[in-house]
Amino acid sequence: MKNISVFCPATIANISCGFDVLGVALESVGDEMIIRKVDQKGIRITKLTGQDLPIETHMNVAGVAGLALLAESDYEGGFEIEIHKKIKAGSGIGSSAASSTGAVWAMNELLGRPFSKLQLVKFAMEGERLASGVAHADNVAPALFGGFTLVRSYHPLDIVAIPSPPQLWATVIHPQIEIRTSDSRKILKTNITLADGIKQWGNLGGLVAGLFTEDYDLIGRSLIDHIVEPIRSILIPGFDKVKSVSLEAGALGCGISGSGPSIFAFSKGEETAKKVAGAMKEVYKKIGIDYDVHVSKVNVDGVRAL
Ligand code: ADP
Repeated sequence: MKNISVFCPATIANISCGFDVLGVALESVGDEMIIRKVDQKGIRITKLTGQDLPIETHMNVAGVAGLALLAESDYEGGFEIEIHKKIKAGSGIGSSAASSTGAVWAMNELLGRPFSKLQLVKFAMEGERLASGVAHADNVAPALFGGFTLVRSYHPLDIVAIPSPPQLWATVIHPQIEIRTSDSRKILKTNITLADGIKQWGNLGGLVAGLFTEDYDLIGRSLIDHIVEPIRSILIPGFDKVKSVSLEAGALGCGISGSGPSIFAFSKGEETAKKVAGAMKEVYKKIGIDYDVHVSKVNVDGVRAL
């Protein structure tokens, strides 16, 4: 096999109580990429459509993640990458993670799978380091494994795949405003109270248990963030209103996707997820901010060949 076309999903990271540790992959939105094996050493981005992003290998997350893989490989040749962005950069639904993950997964396929999924996560995390300054794994892991993932530990890297209940749907609205990931990190407190910690890990445990047991009510009760959302939501106009109308429309829970500005809600069933989308749209229509909306099943397979 000399080339491969891949779909690499968008992802929601953090998921309310799971700041920096939980993520989930989406079915209906993701980047498409074509990766070719070539004799010339190194990595070249030969085409990039859909977004205005750098194509220099060292400036593009797909290039940087690919170089991390090549550095650990005994393969003598190189790769060409075509990226067709369907996910807007800076949206908060794992735009950078999709490109990094798609690149390294495809290269591993073309090389006959010399690397484990955990190794691929580490390579893709180098792309995340370029995008945000931090090599986080909470978008990369679900993009690669599919479904929900928990980053139980970074040192050593330990990723736990969590099953997704079959009727769980996500609604994501992306208001077209810009929040720099670095700004949304800067405003966070570095210390939390023990009381907040107790509430947060109670909910995180509840959410994971709810996902395993397909207990939608428990999932809903647990989708609460006592630590990050109260601070970060200030950067997202209309957040409180979007959340209240989503819950009124029947969503199980609602919160900030990644570092924003996208807002996600989970619902039981497609019909409710669509109703939630309608309610979210009305908020931004009234405020006068353009938006994209995605209604999606959970993607249980992660990155795949097209
Ligand atoms: P998201 O929150 O959607 O993951 P990030 O803010 O993490 O988006 O990443 C976007 C940043 O990564 C931008 O600064 C962008 O210029 C940079 N970047 C470099 N290469 C890519 C790529 N292939 N896809 C997306 N973003 C990229």
